[in-house]
Amino acid sequence: MDTKESPLILYVEDNLDNRTLVRRILEAEGFSVIEAASGKEMFEKLETVTPDLILMDINLPEIDGYTLTTTLKSQLKPEIPIVALTANVMKGDREKTLAAGCDGYIQKPIDVDALPQQVRSFLGSKAKG
Ligand code: MN
Repeated sequence: MDTKESPLILYVEDNLDNRTLVRRILEAEGFSVIEAASGKEMFEKLETVTPDLILMDINLPEIDGYTLTTTLKSQLKPEIPIVALTANVMKGDREKTLAAGCDGYIQKPIDVDALPQQVRSFLGSKAKG
């Protein structure tokens, strides 16, 4: 699986430690990673790049991940798979992310060993151009 071109992942996350950790894990597995610390930064990045997948934190300043996902899916970039990566563990949170338009859900804390395969599975299963 390490012979294919490196998929581009956009990680929207306001916590620097999480961004650094996920970047390190995914780059070690051959992914390319770009980061956005807010929705505003995400929109700026999306003006110049089209990632293969967006990892979306839900608890973000100003605009939350639900709203960002709905905006992307309904208007801007409906073709990009979005996977929520969030510490929310309340009953119904997974359903809320799916209702917002997320294609999948990964729960924090991040499982360092499992994350690359989790991301790969979402890349492989959702190519609904
Ligand atoms: Mn956050």
